[in-house]
Order: sequence, then structure tokens, then C-alpha cells
Amino acid sequence: MTMTDIKSMTQEEITDALRAMGEPAFRGKQVFSWLHKGATDFAEMNNLSKPLREKLGKEFTITAPTVARKQVSRLDGTVKYLWELRDGNCIETVLMSYHHGNTVCISSQVGCRMGCKFCASTIAGKVRDLTPSEMLDQVLFTQLDSEKDISNIVLMGIGEPLDNRANVLRFLQLVNHPEGLNIGMRHISLSTCGVVPGIDALAEENLQLTLSVSLHAPDSATRSRIMPVNNAYDVEELFAACHRYFKKTGRRISFEYAMIDGVNDHDWQADLLTERIRGMPGHVNLIPLNDVVESEFKPSRRVAAFQKRLESHGLTATVRRSLGGDIDASCGQLRRKEMEAKERGQ
Ligand code: SF4
Repeated sequence: MTMTDIKSMTQEEITDALRAMGEPAFRGKQVFSWLHKGATDFAEMNNLSKPLREKLGKEFTITAPTVARKQVSRLDGTVKYLWELRDGNCIETVLMSYHHGNTVCISSQVGCRMGCKFCASTIAGKVRDLTPSEMLDQVLFTQLDSEKDISNIVLMGIGEPLDNRANVLRFLQLVNHPEGLNIGMRHISLSTCGVVPGIDALAEENLQLTLSVSLHAPDSATRSRIMPVNNAYDVEELFAACHRYFKKTGRRISFEYAMIDGVNDHDWQADLLTERIRGMPGHVNLIPLNDVVESEFKPSRRVAAFQKRLESHGLTATVRRSLGGDIDASCGQLRRKEMEAKERGQ
């Protein structure tokens, strides 16, 4: 018999399941609360009777990842967790501390099938989607391990969130629950590489979260070179979806733009980017690239000039502060190292 993943269930679903076992409605609330405080075994739920705890243990499982590796930056305290899931797969979560609070960057899939040329997470493709509970666990167990309250979440780790939309939407519902971690939608950002149908579907949900688009180039020739998703949904289609999203939700979109030397840092590209965003309040986040020896892409020397050019057109453009420079903080690097070590039998 396959056991049901209880932490992926809503409070209402848990209540219904318990009611079917002949239990009163308030039991659902109690179990939900235990799960969202990090209980890893029904035996811990000491306000439930022993027979009920045993019954639950036979029907449901409780997910709980273990720390496979943990790196702490000596420069700024950024922590990178490599979690091992119960099937042996590994995912990454990064905890960053800013003056306005603690942010976790979580993964939404094991691996990724989007193929962005600058990303280590996609090298071995997608293995599987994460369940809502496995996304929630990253927030919950990072909070418990670090003893720091998490106030913000970014879905910007391994995976494309809109390629696992149903589970991501359920995770958002769970993490936002007042009797759970109660993290407000306005404190959550979801990043996509540009899956157009997913953006349209998300618009229909009309959530108060921040949509962030990993853009990296305003023209299709350049974007297709670095992001294969552009061959499925090109820049014109992507911006049309962004404008529809703004029209529907009224929410400002953030555009992520990694600055690559001689590839996407020309003045004409700043001008084209401005044109594309015109008509909605967009924010451009310029990301200075790390100098990775094996990479064909080198850090741009025109970050300040590009920012100035955007600002001269009236756009808001910021340069992202890079955290965790001394650890493998870029998406997918730590998991990749672990996979290579496993392949070598270490
Ligand atoms: S950048 Fe994001 S969408 Fe692109 S391959 Fe990496 S994880 Fe996937």
C-alpha cells in the first residue's frame, strides 16, 4: 500500500481524512500545526491518543530531508544546504540574511530540463518534480536548523517553478497558511525562465507574489543562444505574456539580467529592453557574472554603463549584491559536486 504524503495536504484535506476515521474536526488543525512546526513522526504529536497516532502512522508518511552538506560563507554568513530527500536525490537551499530579514532561495525540481547555458542545475536534465511538502520542508528545516526566522522566500533555486506549477501553487497555499509558517505572498518571489503558458496560468491565480523573469537578453538571437526556452517561446511572446500578467494582476515584474561580456551588454540591447518593458512598471536586476574558468561566458565590464543607459530611459535598474562568494552559492553547483563525488564512488 502506498502511503499518502500528509504534509502536501491542506488543513481541510487533513480534517476530512481524520473525520473519515471518526475523529472530530479540531484534530485536523492539531495535526496540521504539528507538521508545520517540523514534527517528523506521529509519535511526537502528544495531544493525540496513542491509537490515533498509530493509525496515522500506518496511512501517512511525513517527509523530512536530512542535511547532506552545509556550507557557511565566512564573508557574509550565507548558508547553503544540500538536502538529501528520502529517495536519495539531493536539492539545494540557500539562506541569505539581509537587513530586512532572512530569505531562503528554494528548489522546485530535482534537476531541470530548461537547458540554460550558464546553469549547472540543468547539466543532467530533470529527474523529477518536488512535492509541495518537499518545497515546504526547505523553508521549515532551514528555519529549524539555522534558528533564524524566515521572512522571505524566492523560488529561484534548482528547477523551473512553472514546469511544476500545480505543486508550486499548493506549496504557496501551504506556506501562506495562517496556522502554518504564515509567510505572506508579498514576501514571495517566483522566478521563471519564460514558460509563457505558465505565466498566463499564474496570472489567473492573481496572487500578490512578485514574478521575476530570467530574461538575460531582449532580442531573440542572443536569448536563443543562451536559453533554449526562447526557441519555444520567443522574446516577443514572452513580453506579450508579461504585459498580460501586469494587466491582470497590477503587479510589477522584475527582470533578471546576468551581464555577459560582449553578448548582452550593448547599448542597443539596453534600448531594446526599455522598448519591450514600456507600458508596464518593470524593474531590471543586473547580475554581475562570476568568473568561472571553464565557462564560455565572461563577466561584463559594462554593468555600470548599462545600468546608466536603462536609467536614462526612466527604467529602475539595480545591480544585485552577490552573496556567498566563497561557497558554491550559484544554483546547482553543490548538487553537481555531490553527484560527481557519488559517480566517483566517494
Ligand atoms: S536557470 Fe533555472 S530554468 Fe534555467 S536551467 Fe537553471 S534551474 Fe533551469
